[in-house]
Amino acid sequence: MNIFQNKLRMITTTLLLAGLCTVCLTGCSTPIKGSADKPSVTIPSTSNTGGTPDKSGGTTPSSSEPTQPAPQPDKSPTDYPHDPAKTPDSITVLVNKQSNALPDGYRPADLYDDPNLPFIFSGHDEKRLMRKPAAEALEKLFAGAKKDGILLAGVSGFRSYELQKSLFDGYVQQQGEAEARRYSAVPGHSEHQTGLAIDVSGSTGACAAENCFGDTQEAKWLAKHAYEYGFIIRYPQGKEAITGYAYESWHLRYVGLELAKTLNDKGLTMEEYFAGK
Ligand SMILES: [Zn+2]
Repeated sequence: MNIFQNKLRMITTTLLLAGLCTVCLTGCSTPIKGSADKPSVTIPSTSNTGGTPDKSGGTTPSSSEPTQPAPQPDKSPTDYPHDPAKTPDSITVLVNKQSNALPDGYRPADLYDDPNLPFIFSGHDEKRLMRKPAAEALEKLFAGAKKDGILLAGVSGFRSYELQKSLFDGYVQQQGEAEARRYSAVPGHSEHQTGLAIDVSGSTGACAAENCFGDTQEAKWLAKHAYEYGFIIRYPQGKEAITGYAYESWHLRYVGLELAKTLNDKGLTMEEYFAGK
């Protein structure tokens, strides 16, 4: 039995039991509109009494199920493929709640402010930065969308460790750490720090990084076509227990053409794919 598969199963069980599927968790927290990309969904205050979702306590299978394999010891984070601590520059690096953190102070060397990429704000801002391969692919994606009459714009791309820490610490002060972890990535565990992720909206910025974006033509176009440009909807609908985050129709992750097509064709998340599914 693959340890990682087992681990995923444990995490899935834990999250399902905690009722977290109805909760919007985001690794995207951004200062846009003052609400971060904490979507405008009501977060039940009575769930998650079992602790933070990214702790690896898991749940012990019932002893009345003899066919259930024995719980595996906690998986060493270094067992992950594309470990962020070792290969932070990999296009397919897997950054999530269970992974190692990105190295201290990690900042991609090829961050690029692409003048051809429209954003919903004007002026220079670090949020405009992306790694160059991702920015160039996003340019093509925006152009492809435009041909279909869909006008897209960036909302928030790169986010430094320091900014994520500032955001996360603010949420902890306001609501406590357990609550903060439910929708904001712990510093060092945000995909935005890789320079390979970006939150996208329509060019008007309506519903930017909010759940209502999922109902827009722009979101539907992205869900259908993003993979053609090497991007995936990183936190798809129905995979909350696996990715650790609720559906985020706006959060694109660049993984390259090959992996994006594979994940799209098989309907898999990065977690599932790397677990050998
Ligand atoms: Zn995001």
